[in-house]
Amino acid sequence: PASFLVMAILIQLTRTQAACWFIHRKQLFSSFRRHALIRRSMASDTTRFDFLVIGGGSGGLAGARRASELGATTAVIESHKLGGTCVNVGCVPKKVMWNAAVHAEYLHDHNDYGFDVGNVRFSWETLKAKRDTYVSHLNRIYRSNLDKAKIQTIQGHARFTNDPEPTVEVNGRKYTAPHILIATGGQPSVLSETEVPGASLGITSDGFFELETLPKRSVIVGAGYIAVEMADKQLIYKSPSTVICSLTNCTKELQNSGIDLWKNTQVKSVCKTDRGLEVTLVTKDPEKKNDEEKIRTIQEVDCLLWAIGRQPNTSGLNIDERGHIIVDEFQNTSRAGIYAVGDVCGKALLTPVAIAAGRKLAHRLFEGKKDSKLDYSTIPTVVFSHPPIGTVGLTEEEAIKSRGKENVKIYKTSFTPMYHAITSRKSQCIMKLVCVGKEEKVVGLHMQGLGCDEMLQGFAVAIKMGATKADFDKTIAIHPTSSEEFVTMR
Ligand SMILES: Cc1cc2nc3c(=O)[nH]c(=O)nc-3n(C[C@H](O)[C@H](O)[C@H](O)COP(=O)(O)OP(=O)(O)OC[C@H]3O[C@@H](n4cnc5c(N)ncnc54)[C@H](O)[C@@H]3O)c2cc1C
Repeated sequence: PASFLVMAILIQLTRTQAACWFIHRKQLFSSFRRHALIRRSMASDTTRFDFLVIGGGSGGLAGARRASELGATTAVIESHKLGGTCVNVGCVPKKVMWNAAVHAEYLHDHNDYGFDVGNVRFSWETLKAKRDTYVSHLNRIYRSNLDKAKIQTIQGHARFTNDPEPTVEVNGRKYTAPHILIATGGQPSVLSETEVPGASLGITSDGFFELETLPKRSVIVGAGYIAVEMADKQLIYKSPSTVICSLTNCTKELQNSGIDLWKNTQVKSVCKTDRGLEVTLVTKDPEKKNDEEKIRTIQEVDCLLWAIGRQPNTSGLNIDERGHIIVDEFQNTSRAGIYAVGDVCGKALLTPVAIAAGRKLAHRLFEGKKDSKLDYSTIPTVVFSHPPIGTVGLTEEEAIKSRGKENVKIYKTSFTPMYHAITSRKSQCIMKLVCVGKEEKVVGLHMQGLGCDEMLQGFAVAIKMGATKADFDKTIAIHPTSSEEFVTMR
């Protein structure tokens, strides 16, 4: 037995050493290759990499880091701050603001739970300073991760040149690669002065994160999730806000959110007065033929926020007139060797989607995984309102449209979460399961209520795996929670 033990240790040691040698050799080879490539490129005026990524946001960084792990010499070109929209003016600062609003919301319940918190004061300035510090910290982490991975960071705005080989120019220097990824994301859409006189007096979600003080009176234009999230937070900070929406049918959540919502309304003009902005609005219901236009003005507005959508960042990238980069299911553009991922493609504008697409592409290009592509179906998403909304899969309408009414079964419930059992303030939780076919396969799950943001991910796994209503029913409930309702619905 002793000799077996020695042999086993020797085999293990040999394996470890072999593995170390292999890794070392791989690293040595890849480092030699990196230098050789960069040296070779020095001879010409164009620096050459295996993989050149335009845009250091969610999709670009994920694709670059995965490609580098797989041995590709990689560079990332970024014109602003590393981390892109998500880190700097999107998910991250937004979630910090949401968390702050959760505190504000729960303050209403402190007395009911026996706490005497006295006179609570809120400092927007403290919150902003802490949030900005956190974002800068993330910017530095992203930079250090790129450095550690030996990915070259090129600071500046990339433009494609007219060279025969796809080439990108940044600050007068040229870069090329057999594989170039466009991951330039998007930016908030704005209206021109001709469309709405005074439009430039407003800000966008980017500007919201720069505000040094809490607005006293906001007008938010738009009906998408960014408008809802912005309006909702301000409501909770007790800063009055009105949402202007040009649609007749806004989401129920928006209508029920307690936000001052003006439907069928558009901004006609904006002007600046001594007491702030004066926003003139025109309301007309297109469904009512004889409905006259109503013109109203909101005065003393100190924050007019345009949340009317986003447009792709494609300046200098020679793209079609619509601006979005059209890609196939493998993220290939129409030009061989040029790919695009993330918001610039205009599909499922979410950070994890951009990240997953970037990584899948890297595996295809540098690991030979020919079928590596992102499955864009059944993407879970959350609107960080108060309470949050979680949704994955088909809506009831979509399921009926694709499968026929007779093949769709809906399970619904609404209740007051137990958290509110002893609070005078109440909020509802609503839940819906969309099932199809005889087997009642769950193809959609939708909810709004306390904790729904964290509840969704696990259910999304089950749905992605093809769970049926019977699978949900077989699962033992966790009591007392709101999520148990999903496994006890009848
Ligand atoms: C207010 C707000 C809240 C959001 N909340 C969420 C959320 O809760 N959850 C979620 O999943 N998603 C959220 N999103 C969406 C998310 O931020 C985006 O889907 C994600 O950042 C897209 O990643 P991307 O890599 O495609 O682009 P981006 O992250 O936008 O990165 C693109 C980068 O490219 C750079 N760039 C552009 N053009 C050039 C050029 N020519 N040369 C060099 N660099 C260039 C830009 O500076 C930018 O850094 C939110 C967005 C906003 C605006």
